[in-house]
Amino acid sequence: MVRMRITALAGGVGGARFLRGLVHHLQRTEQHGHRAEGPDGGESPGPSGRAGGLAGGLGPAGPVELTVIGNTGDDITLHGLRVCPDLDTLAYTLGGGVHEEQGWGRAEETFAASEELARLGSGPDWFRLGDRDLATHIARTRWLSQGGTLSQVTARVGQRWGLPERGVRLLPVTDDPIETHVVLEDAAGGERAVHFQQWWVQDRARTPALRFTVAGLDRAAAAPGVLDALRQADVVLLPPSNPVVSIGIILGVPGVRDALRGTRAPVVGVSPIIGGAPVRGHADACLAPLGVEVSAAGVAGLYEDFLDGWLVDTADAPPAGGGYRSGLVVRTRELRMRDALGAEALAGAALQLALELR
Ligand code: GDP
Ligand code: CA
Repeated sequence: MVRMRITALAGGVGGARFLRGLVHHLQRTEQHGHRAEGPDGGESPGPSGRAGGLAGGLGPAGPVELTVIGNTGDDITLHGLRVCPDLDTLAYTLGGGVHEEQGWGRAEETFAASEELARLGSGPDWFRLGDRDLATHIARTRWLSQGGTLSQVTARVGQRWGLPERGVRLLPVTDDPIETHVVLEDAAGGERAVHFQQWWVQDRARTPALRFTVAGLDRAAAAPGVLDALRQADVVLLPPSNPVVSIGIILGVPGVRDALRGTRAPVVGVSPIIGGAPVRGHADACLAPLGVEVSAAGVAGLYEDFLDGWLVDTADAPPAGGGYRSGLVVRTRELRMRDALGAEALAGAALQLALELR
């Protein structure tokens, strides 16, 4: 019997690190025989996992089911292969295969194929794909071409990474192809749109964005299980993912925002902005075209129609960082995930706040 259903929306690195912390937190509270709502600062490492012991307590039939709804707006076709950067970052991180320092891609990666593609002059040269990572994209592309949906393909990748054993269900927000594009001013004063990845990776978001558009979004339907996971959740968490190009894209898929407004679960988020700046990445360059202040309060404003609780860093403690909708519960703590234990403590604090608001 499932005791608690947690549903989270997530982009790539920020979301994945937080959610790995959440899985660790749940494993630790479970292993200690506490109810998952027991407070846990995450300071003590606790007993390390006996073979099967940790995962065993969190199986699909176990006490907590975590559904992760991943952003697919970053998806791109390269070398004829369908690449899903955020879903893969989530699977690699939750499955223990991610490149730790980089935060995305595979640990112990090699780049022989990308180097050979460059020698062949087969572009693009601004997006390097590791050899192990390429295997994921080859398998995904093949399964999709055989008629599999992105949900089905993502489940298979998740199995490779042991997600079901960890009590994690990874869902793409939609099975329909969507792509985030960035509209930029061109030299002649007109406009041109480029794929989000090109702006983010090649340009490092230096060219000011005029706006974001999402190709295919109006025709997209939420993937099977997505809306139910939000409506039937006991707790909904928003990790510190990019509010515009990660969470914002998920919220734009028809039905998702309404499901969040309608769910009886408390919705608790973690600010990706600390002291007026993103921790990593270019969230500031994404907020600017929306006219939204680069602050914890500015991001909360994007979620104000469904957000119940909001974690902000001590650097942003209200009233200095005021400007919140009345009724929103704002709690202050350290938000920087310095290491795995820090991420675990942060996730524990977010869950704790949600359970208090239930
Ligand atoms: P991406 O798809 O790889 O860009 O990853 P996400 O969208 O999931 O997360 C990116 C966001 O995570 C950025 O806006 C960062 O500011 C935020 N972030 C990264 N590390 C941390 C951290 O340690 N603490 C907090 N609060 N936010 C973080
Ligand atoms: Ca991303």
